[in-house]
Amino acid sequence: MHTQFTAEELAFREEVRAFYKEAHTPELVERFSNPATMKDAIIEWQRKLYDQGWVAPNWPKEYGGTGWTDTQRFIFDSERSAAGARGVIPFGLSMVAPVIYTFGNEEQKARFLPRILKSEDWWCQGYSEPGAGSDLAALKTRAVRDGDDYIVNGAKIWTTYAQYADWIFCLVRTSTEGKRQEGISFLLIDMTTPGIKVNPIHSIDNHHSLNEVEFNDVRVPVANRIGEENKGWTYAKALLAHERTGIAGVADSKRNLANLKKRAAAEVNGGRSLLSDPLFQKRLSDVEIELMALEFTELRVLATVASGGAPGAESSMLKIKGTEIQQALQELNMDLAAYYQGVLPTDLNAEQLGHEFGSDARQSFMYGRAATIYGGSNEVQKNIIAKAVLGL
Ligand SMILES: Cc1cc2nc3c(=O)[nH]c(=O)nc-3n(C[C@H](O)[C@H](O)[C@H](O)COP(=O)(O)OP(=O)(O)OC[C@H]3O[C@@H](n4cnc5c(N)ncnc54)[C@H](O)[C@@H]3O)c2cc1C
Repeated sequence: MHTQFTAEELAFREEVRAFYKEAHTPELVERFSNPATMKDAIIEWQRKLYDQGWVAPNWPKEYGGTGWTDTQRFIFDSERSAAGARGVIPFGLSMVAPVIYTFGNEEQKARFLPRILKSEDWWCQGYSEPGAGSDLAALKTRAVRDGDDYIVNGAKIWTTYAQYADWIFCLVRTSTEGKRQEGISFLLIDMTTPGIKVNPIHSIDNHHSLNEVEFNDVRVPVANRIGEENKGWTYAKALLAHERTGIAGVADSKRNLANLKKRAAAEVNGGRSLLSDPLFQKRLSDVEIELMALEFTELRVLATVASGGAPGAESSMLKIKGTEIQQALQELNMDLAAYYQGVLPTDLNAEQLGHEFGSDARQSFMYGRAATIYGGSNEVQKNIIAKAVLGL
């Protein structure tokens, strides 16, 4: 892959652009931001992508994927972000589905994959536990065999959107012998099974996306186990590789930066714009330079993948830099909100700088603290780089 697009790729970009313009309506956006309508709106949006045949760009074509190149996927994501459109919820489409089509049996593929494609089932991820986060192999949720079932006991934590989920994919301990990694199995669990309790966790952004999920004598058919017993760690690691796509969030950061610049250039009631402040300009330029460098690094990694290579430790680098840039932009947005805090609804530019912007800036700043923790904390990514690059 070259870092310049071909004529076909540019034509593809136009097609994607037109789709987003038409399909991602302001009415949908309104419903995404209201907790009461969010779930239905997301499902509706994902069905539009499904009807277009674009809901699962990462899947092999035989299961419903698009057959796109990495460059097309990059364009698709960049256009999504430029349009301010939301991505799909990853747990079903990007996380568990690749595990099912790679390691599941034919019955599991036929049962789960079409429903994931059509967003008929909402999935959540049950990996982390109190006491097992970065050190995931320390997990203790037990699954004990009883005839054709496992009996599951334990608790998962930080389970995003468990309150909406029909299914949870879980790592459970099926053996305490030998190496810790060799006693883990991968189970698909129906959230309506008796014995499951979802306890909400309210985060500092004042939203409810996180949960604790308790399992008390939950019966799970052995038929819902992916692959072999005690081999779950292998499948879980493969899933983490699928999390890499778009991990740097370059497209979203570019859009945030453009919006930030536009807002900072606004003059309110005859006052100076924040953009005219040399100190603010310097901070903005520093982030912009880092972001450009990150974009080219991401394109280089995509080029490696397109020519058959594996991304290796670069994906850890992208994760660290990408999330640091996201947080730097969120901090600049907070400063912007503080600078323009006196804007009244009747003032010039009130729509882009008024109360609603301040409240959104605060919310993304608060939730954004988590970006350097989830998906493998940045400290742990640094350990991965040290091992792979420095051979430590
Ligand atoms: C918003 C959010 C959503 C999440 N959603 C989900 C979800 O849907 N499903 C799910 O299963 N999990 C989810 N998680 C959990 C996430 O994967 C864990 O928080 C993450 O793996 C870190 O684990 P921990 O919280 O137990 O922290 P710990 O592992 O206890 O780490 C605490 C601190 O110690 C540092 N540290 C740990 N080990 C090392 C080391 N070896 N070297 C250097 N520093 C180290 C870490 O970087 C961190 O700063 C979510 C987390 C967040 C914040």
